[in-house]
Amino acid sequence: MTFEDLGLSPEVLKAVDEVGYATPTPIQEKAIPVVLMGRDVLGCAQTGTGKTASFTLPMIDILSSGRARARMPRSLIIAPTRELAAQVSENFELYGKHGKLSMALLIGGSSFVEQEQKLDRGVDVLIATPGRLIDLFERGKILLADVKILVIDEADRMLDMGFMPDVERIVGLLPKIRQTLFFSATMPPEIRRLADTFLMNPKEISVDPPASAAETVTQALIKVKGAAKEKRAALRDLIRGEDVKSALVFCNRKRDVDIVFRSMERHGFSVAALHGDMAQPVRMETLQNFKDAKVQFMVCSDVAARGLDIPAVSHVFNFDVPSNPEDYVHRIGRTGRAGRSGKAFTFALREEGKYLANVVRMLGKDIPEITVDQNSGWEAGDAAEDSRGGRRRRGGGRSSSESGRRGGQRRSAKKAEAAPSEGNPASESAVVEDETATEPSEAAAVEVVAFEATAEPKAAASKPAKSRDAKRSPRRGKKKPENEELAPGETAFGDHIPAFLLRPAKVA
Ligand code: AMP
Repeated sequence: MTFEDLGLSPEVLKAVDEVGYATPTPIQEKAIPVVLMGRDVLGCAQTGTGKTASFTLPMIDILSSGRARARMPRSLIIAPTRELAAQVSENFELYGKHGKLSMALLIGGSSFVEQEQKLDRGVDVLIATPGRLIDLFERGKILLADVKILVIDEADRMLDMGFMPDVERIVGLLPKIRQTLFFSATMPPEIRRLADTFLMNPKEISVDPPASAAETVTQALIKVKGAAKEKRAALRDLIRGEDVKSALVFCNRKRDVDIVFRSMERHGFSVAALHGDMAQPVRMETLQNFKDAKVQFMVCSDVAARGLDIPAVSHVFNFDVPSNPEDYVHRIGRTGRAGRSGKAFTFALREEGKYLANVVRMLGKDIPEITVDQNSGWEAGDAAEDSRGGRRRRGGGRSSSESGRRGGQRRSAKKAEAAPSEGNPASESAVVEDETATEPSEAAAVEVVAFEATAEPKAAASKPAKSRDAKRSPRRGKKKPENEELAPGETAFGDHIPAFLLRPAKVA
């Protein structure tokens, strides 16, 4: 099948041709004719399948007739992260260059004034993250009554990040008669329930089984004896033996992103860091430098794992095993894109055995193990032991200094003393200690930083300092990951606090 067979306009076909796509991808083949017919779509597709073009191309044609009115966008695309929203807008610019559609990108970290000016002029396509959209709506800067097409992109990610109440509210503000395109990489029951409420008689399109790892990616596992220091050494050894064009190095925590970044920089690698605590302009610049191949390695947290389209990534290194197994798929999906092959290496300490087991269970098969240096390989029984340690930690049977991860680190630190030293041993052990610290989830932090940095005085005075997104708790009813601390004011009981705990305490 060719793009010409899909019913797209000559302008769009010309743009597609200029981009250099020869044939439509499966999701494009299936979705484009359905979208052009005006039907709702429930798409189960990972990023990397060409799903962005599967909705942007037909939308450009549908919106080409008609005119936008001030503050009344004609279509709305909601995406979970600013990077993803920015990427969708790049797609519109690319494919819509022979048309006259106007577009606005509403994301945290960018100037409200500029965004409002665009809205005042009238936009055909509005691409937004949920929090910023609601902020602007509440300030009366935007009316959603004219939205004819709604796209919800990466719905499962939105759910994970706690944005669904906002999304539900936004959908409630839209006209009932509209076309809705709903995309998600996975289709758990909660997502399906939401899809049922948002969509009318949708055409279901699935191009990849949920949570299956990309087939174009060669995966390997390195079980590292020791601690983070040994992982860093193994990472360097592995990189030096590989033909790395461009690589992402994923860490579970922002703090570790900084540590690994500094370590790689010290060892002479061309490297940058990306995580949610960085200001939005810095994030954008870092990403651009990486896309332009000005830096070879980007150490990042999971904020970069979903949706980012950087075709030339040859390698993904999971410096940590992701605590959420689905993140593994999204991380390794950053390589092997658009038909290229890629390699994904995962480093696992013994205490990550539990996370590793979850990933393997999700994949339905083992990740082939390789040896990198003298520290490679630990016994399976150790993983089970660590997993038991993790449960004890929750139950409180042992003191925190003895238990679980900390225990693992201590054992590791001892081994590290005997291992050849990477640098100053004293500072190294401080780093190891540092790495045992926990911090709140990245997802919660993503939008907070930017809003606080860019909110105008008026908004700040009329509202609490934090953005709406900051107030969201992760997925309702979802257990907090074990490595997450409770935020101030947050309780381990979730929304329900037993009444006896709320009674005033008697002070002697
Ligand atoms: P996405 O899944 O939308 O993130 O797209 C993944 C990558 O596939 C992007 O780099 C697109 O530019 C690329 N792409 C999209 N459609 C096609 C196509 N028909 N042929 C080749 N590459 C494509």
